[in-house]
Amino acid sequence: MTQKEYLSLVDKLNYYNYRYYVLNDPIVSDYEYDMLLKDLIEVEEKHPEWKVAYSPSVKIGADIVDSINTVKHEVRMYSLDNVYNEAELYNFLARITRELGESEIYFTVEPKIDGAAISVTYEEGILKQALTRGDGEFGEDVTHNIKTVRTLPLKIEEKQKMILQGEVFISKKTFEVINQERKKQGLNLFANPRNAAAGTLKVLNSKIASERNLDILFYSLAYGYSSSSHYENLNFLKKLGFKVSNLIKNVKLADITDEINKLQSLRESLEFEIDGVVVKVDDINLRDRLGFTTKYPKWAVAYKFPPTQMTTKVIDVVFQVGRTGRVTPVAILEPVTISGSTVSRATLHNFDEIKRLQVMIGDTVFIEKSGEIIPKIVKVVKENRKEVKEITFPDFCPVCKEKLLMEEGDVSAWCVNSDCPARIKYSVLHFASRDALDIRGLGDKVVEQLVDKGFIKSIADIFELDEFKLLQLDGFKEKSVSNLLNSIHVSKNKPFDKVLYGLGILHVGKKTAEVLAQHFESIDKLMQANIDELISVKDIGEVVAHSIYTTCRLEKFIALVEKLKSFGLKFELEKKDIPNKLNGKNFLITGKLSRSRKDMEELIRENGGNVLGGVNKDLDYLIVGDSPGSKLDKAKKLNVKIISEDDFMEMIK
Ligand code: NAD
Repeated sequence: MTQKEYLSLVDKLNYYNYRYYVLNDPIVSDYEYDMLLKDLIEVEEKHPEWKVAYSPSVKIGADIVDSINTVKHEVRMYSLDNVYNEAELYNFLARITRELGESEIYFTVEPKIDGAAISVTYEEGILKQALTRGDGEFGEDVTHNIKTVRTLPLKIEEKQKMILQGEVFISKKTFEVINQERKKQGLNLFANPRNAAAGTLKVLNSKIASERNLDILFYSLAYGYSSSSHYENLNFLKKLGFKVSNLIKNVKLADITDEINKLQSLRESLEFEIDGVVVKVDDINLRDRLGFTTKYPKWAVAYKFPPTQMTTKVIDVVFQVGRTGRVTPVAILEPVTISGSTVSRATLHNFDEIKRLQVMIGDTVFIEKSGEIIPKIVKVVKENRKEVKEITFPDFCPVCKEKLLMEEGDVSAWCVNSDCPARIKYSVLHFASRDALDIRGLGDKVVEQLVDKGFIKSIADIFELDEFKLLQLDGFKEKSVSNLLNSIHVSKNKPFDKVLYGLGILHVGKKTAEVLAQHFESIDKLMQANIDELISVKDIGEVVAHSIYTTCRLEKFIALVEKLKSFGLKFELEKKDIPNKLNGKNFLITGKLSRSRKDMEELIRENGGNVLGGVNKDLDYLIVGDSPGSKLDKAKKLNVKIISEDDFMEMIK
């Protein structure tokens, strides 16, 4: 790197800092930022004479803006040095052991909560002030917003002055709610809970902060110690009523990696986002011996998890036709590694999503992949946009070339050609999927060949596959042919609800298929039902009812059902599938039960009983809970059998 390149890297990182800390609108991922910062530090070590005072390697955060009062921190706040793998962690631990020359050092292993740092001061037991970390020396006074945190005590028993440090965060659940609300209002979405928390801390109107449900977990007693052990101090804070994570452990060096692995395995299930684990020397006296750099404490390090967000480029957008004919735009990306796997495609869902993201071909985008979720584009970096191309929806189906249908107000275009090979392929895959007929061996590649060769033009053709056809497929030999034919044969025994789900009627998912099968008991009755009858079924709304009604009147659908019947598939509920423990008896509920009313009514119906609208002579049983209403007196007069919730559960056991 030349000196000129070094200086431009300094500028670049300072600008990234500004985007991240001041605007809460980063344009590169944390991982990319950290890697660039590492490069910068390396160059500065090689060429100390180049190092400038305003280098991002010496200061934390970004320059403070003055819309909120800035206040000098009584106890300086630091950032954390970070490592990305075990080798780097061992280097850190080895340095500490070497410098301290002690054999038995305890370390706390703590979740690294992905929010914004806060310092809160109590005097005479009263919350006095809350400051953001700012540049470490000065922070912004956000006391007005911090007071909205419901878990934070405004008054405590301890009278000595105390300064606590912790992380303000927004739970994953609240984050989703906030973004859904912003989406509705056409506002920019927060890229992650961290940005949302940091942004919320600085709003001027504390009513907004209150609505966003900020929360705080404390990880340090920075002033007013009660013990020389950091871990004990945290316990002291807990006793005073502060929220401290129960996941924090105090362990010997040899147990650190175990604890890190435990936290990493818990990551998905936690209510808040964590981006790593913090390892800290526990003993405050030992910490004092180690000291600080300008930026970090030398006694702590952040072990960062593999990134879940990265930036990459949209190379193209293709249009995929699904089983229902819906055309979905899919972004083709420059491949990036996220959470250990390579991502090269991300769904763009529909027109609305493209409009909302304002994404174009050639754009740099933030991609997120966490847990099992399909990668998604969370944000577009509009900065430095060059050579971008607008995304235009095709007029014709990219697969069968039929004109696409797009109704006014619809956010998707549709291929209405039911013979479209793409639709057939996805319909067959759906029919064969685990929750439907579960036909093992009928996967993506096989179905594609079967459709391309013209052996399958409709779901029913699955049952006319034979040895001759299957032997023409790539890699198919006698054994694989007989396995597949066997799975097809076995699939004919699947119960009615699975077959119904497999037919792929728009809006009829697995659960709905189960409800419909239980209610109508056969496809013939379902196909005869009118809209009102369909809507009267529990959990079936107007949209679903219309979809079922229309589909059941399509000639093609009727022919498909007939054909599948002729192959022996199950289109009726078998008697053994209808639980009838309650033998058609009539029930009614009064008072408060441990289960919700809805759940109880569902249980009654599922077990072959009926729920009546009021007490009358047809009533067989009244289930009575706490504080029953007038129904009880009425029922007693009519000599109706009175039972408890437990009695009822016994009946259906
Ligand atoms: P950091 O987030 O990596 O680590 C320090 C912070 O961790 C502390 O200030 C505290 O807020 C938090 N923390 C959470 N749990 C903690 C615990 N148990 N104990 C102690 N601290 C805990 O550091 P930072 O200085 O806030 O930010 C630097 C990081 O921010 C970089 O590593 C980079 O990933 C990111 N960043 C990204 C960009 C970008 O453009 N994407 C720009 C600047 C910084």
